Amino acid sequence: MQESLPYTIVIGLEVHVQLATRSKLFCGCSTAFGAEPNTQTCPLCIGMPGTLPVMNREAFGLSLRTAVALNCSIPRFTKWDRKQYFYPDLPKGYQISQFDLPLSENGYLQISDPKGAFEPKKIRIIRAHLEEDAGKSIHDEATGRGDSRIDLNRTGTPLLEIVSQPDIRSPLEAKAYLSELKLLLTYLGVSDCNMQEGSLRVDANINLHIDAADSAVSAAQRDAAMGDGNTTAPSGAMTTPVGKIATPIVEVKNMNSFRAVERALAFEASRQYEVFKETGLTINDPDGLKTTRGWDENAQATKPQRGKEDSADYRYFPDPDLVPVTTTAEQVDEIRESLGELPAALRTRIEETYAISAYDADVLVNQGRELVDYFIRLADRCGDAKAASNWVQQDVLRALKERQITIECFPVTPEMLSKLLRYIADGLLPTSRARDVLAEMIESGSSADASMKKLGIEAVDQGELEGLCRELLEKNPGIVQDAKEGKLKAVGALIGQAKQKNPNVNPAQVRELCLKLIEKM
Ligand SMILES: [Zn+2]
Repeated sequence: MQESLPYTIVIGLEVHVQLATRSKLFCGCSTAFGAEPNTQTCPLCIGMPGTLPVMNREAFGLSLRTAVALNCSIPRFTKWDRKQYFYPDLPKGYQISQFDLPLSENGYLQISDPKGAFEPKKIRIIRAHLEEDAGKSIHDEATGRGDSRIDLNRTGTPLLEIVSQPDIRSPLEAKAYLSELKLLLTYLGVSDCNMQEGSLRVDANINLHIDAADSAVSAAQRDAAMGDGNTTAPSGAMTTPVGKIATPIVEVKNMNSFRAVERALAFEASRQYEVFKETGLTINDPDGLKTTRGWDENAQATKPQRGKEDSADYRYFPDPDLVPVTTTAEQVDEIRESLGELPAALRTRIEETYAISAYDADVLVNQGRELVDYFIRLADRCGDAKAASNWVQQDVLRALKERQITIECFPVTPEMLSKLLRYIADGLLPTSRARDVLAEMIESGSSADASMKKLGIEAVDQGELEGLCRELLEKNPGIVQDAKEGKLKAVGALIGQAKQKNPNVNPAQVRELCLKLIEKM
């Protein structure tokens, strides 16, 4: 897909994750979502003079768990810094964040596409650091008065900021990275990752690398702009490869779903290419500074936003009210051992243990740990992992979706379903009838046997089926003759007759048994 484009897309992502703590980062106020405005505040988080922050250990612990799971190194020493800026929803006039000594750095997240749209790759992570959230400005444009109100409930909520290297090469890879990150955070239990409630927010840095020889720029522009491999680019950008020209970096904001991220990046890539063809503007030009654009969902386009401050504008300095945090190697080891099985390892394990495809393993693992546990219990009991995987992916997931319930609330346990799958495997029940039985089991919560009884479905045993097949063959000597002459399709006519006599027979089994009996005739 990417190969056909006249440029390489270069994307780095900044993800803010709201940590699942009950209280805020530096005070005891609740972090619950959806309360009346300004009911979850105290003198500290509304920035009253004389208050002193105390770090939430739980928030720091959850951050470390995430950083270790992201293969980051954990420095022994980390500290808090004040990031100064004035904004109505930031009552202190500064945000407590981490500047030069973050709690973790140099990690990676492996991404892949089960359909093979791109090669599996590692997206490097520059750093993950902890900071406090700001409040919310609510601009009332509907009434025409245009008044703005402030809700400080969110002020001081712990946010983990995870910054990737610009290793992502397409909107699809960006989506894969975000999906994998979200899955990991969910498995770790560090965040609910609800994008609608703002628990997971994404900003993207994107620019293009264009082949100097292919570009339409003049020779003079090209010589001036061509990467020598040593170009010092603004923070977050990679150096421009030799022979390539880089367009100015744009930070894209306001993307409220992974789908929006994918679309915004695709739009932004072609927009930057059009601008480049028109103006020849590169990252090295005085006008080529980083700019900020917001995704407009209605217009399906990015629109210019305010200019982005440089880190020098924030006047970072260490927060004198908070002590630095030290972490020992033993603590990090302890965290590593407590992580449990993470999505990547779980995929490999069920793919290998149950001999299912990478694609199937991916679908199951992406549904969450509880669904995987359901599959494992089902596969272990029914002895046919492929059938178990199919039934979970199709029938169970469909039922969960229709009823809008999670697997924990699903009325059919793996033990109950495994009995039904064994009936199918033993040829006692055709798949279509088994679906009816499952529907009844879900409806009534009763066993496979009880549900079959209620529906008037009887499992057809082997002796009964053989009797039926013999009877049909005796009545249809023409079909027997045809089959003996190699026209095996003729047997198909017997299946219809068999089903009329007993709707519970398995068509494939009737066919197989009839052919076996004909051979002996
Ligand atoms: Zn508070």
